Amino acid sequence: MTQECDTLLLAARLPDGRQDMRIAIRQGRIAAILAPGDTAPPAAQILDLQGDLLLPGLVDAHLHLDKTLFGLPWLPHAAGPDRMSRIETDRRLLPALPLSAAERGSALLRRCIAHGTAHIRSHADITPAFGLTMLEGVLAAKQAHAGAATVQVVAFPQAGVMRAPGTAELLEAAIRAGADLLGGLDPCEVDRDPKGQFDAIFGIAARHGVGLDIHLHEAGELGLFSLQEFCARVRAHGMQGRATISHGFCLGTLPESKQKAAAALMAEAGVALATHGAGGATLPPLSLLREAGVTVLCGHDNLRDTWGPYGTGDMLERAAIVGWRADWRSDPQLHALFGMVSTEGARVLGLAEHGIAPGLPASFFTLPAENIPEAIAQHPPRRLVFFAGRLVARDGVFLG
Ligand SMILES: [Zn+2]
Repeated sequence: MTQECDTLLLAARLPDGRQDMRIAIRQGRIAAILAPGDTAPPAAQILDLQGDLLLPGLVDAHLHLDKTLFGLPWLPHAAGPDRMSRIETDRRLLPALPLSAAERGSALLRRCIAHGTAHIRSHADITPAFGLTMLEGVLAAKQAHAGAATVQVVAFPQAGVMRAPGTAELLEAAIRAGADLLGGLDPCEVDRDPKGQFDAIFGIAARHGVGLDIHLHEAGELGLFSLQEFCARVRAHGMQGRATISHGFCLGTLPESKQKAAAALMAEAGVALATHGAGGATLPPLSLLREAGVTVLCGHDNLRDTWGPYGTGDMLERAAIVGWRADWRSDPQLHALFGMVSTEGARVLGLAEHGIAPGLPASFFTLPAENIPEAIAQHPPRRLVFFAGRLVARDGVFLG
């Protein structure tokens, strides 16, 4: 190949073990992957990776850009130890902060991007108190960083649907205003009306042809009931492959026979599970779910925000936390964790073009690691981050 490329990367290590490879980038895409001895094209820019591993852009499948406190001086955690106290703290605190949702969300987005994340699914609170303001903030942050990451937005009824009159109408308005998916929240514990909440959100999703991603914190048999109802509705509406249960804490509290039955139900309904390795809750049985054919993906959920002070924006670190909680140690298990923050996340987010191959978008990052297991377990600092052929971060610093 002799046609000039925009950037030529030297001495790349690929996840399949190939070393000293060169990557040619042209018009935002990987034009060629060249082995030692292959003729390289002329390039406007040449960067030497010095043997660093090159991995496809990470996927954070569950984030709350509107709740983050990034961009602000440190704020001590203000909420009480239960979900309803945190919801009330959001209502009181978020509108009073000196930075808008767009400014805080942008600060967090830049941290995620600098850690190699290329694709994000963020929830945005839709409540009678906030109206569409949090959604507008998240959409503004998304727009401002469209050249460095993609952001899918879920219209999320954080205060419930049936217990907060007017929310269903706001959710529909949120979809019209640019939200990509519809959320839900603990239809029994929060709304005490599972039929009402599911009638509302499935109705809106069907009218607008959008997918669903619901928060399900409910434990034990109550959570299992909500999960069964959700899967039944997904099948009835033909929404297989376009529905996700986030958290699914109940799955970790059930006896194994019921875990297997629930996993089979989710697999049949094409319902994915998003986990973040919550510290205060049971972890769903990730191996059992994957073996049953459920797609398991991973996100940060709360990231230095009104719900908790933890999180750095690094999805490799988050994958390591999930692996630690699952007691996964072998290389195949570490590869599975990487799938959850890359390939499987990309599939559920509907990203058709994801990976490292000629013709695909040049969205990847580099780091000093031998292979994927080391990248997960040690999560060394990111060196270069590219999105669609552009260098968007270097040595942990977002380049704008
Ligand atoms: Zn969440």
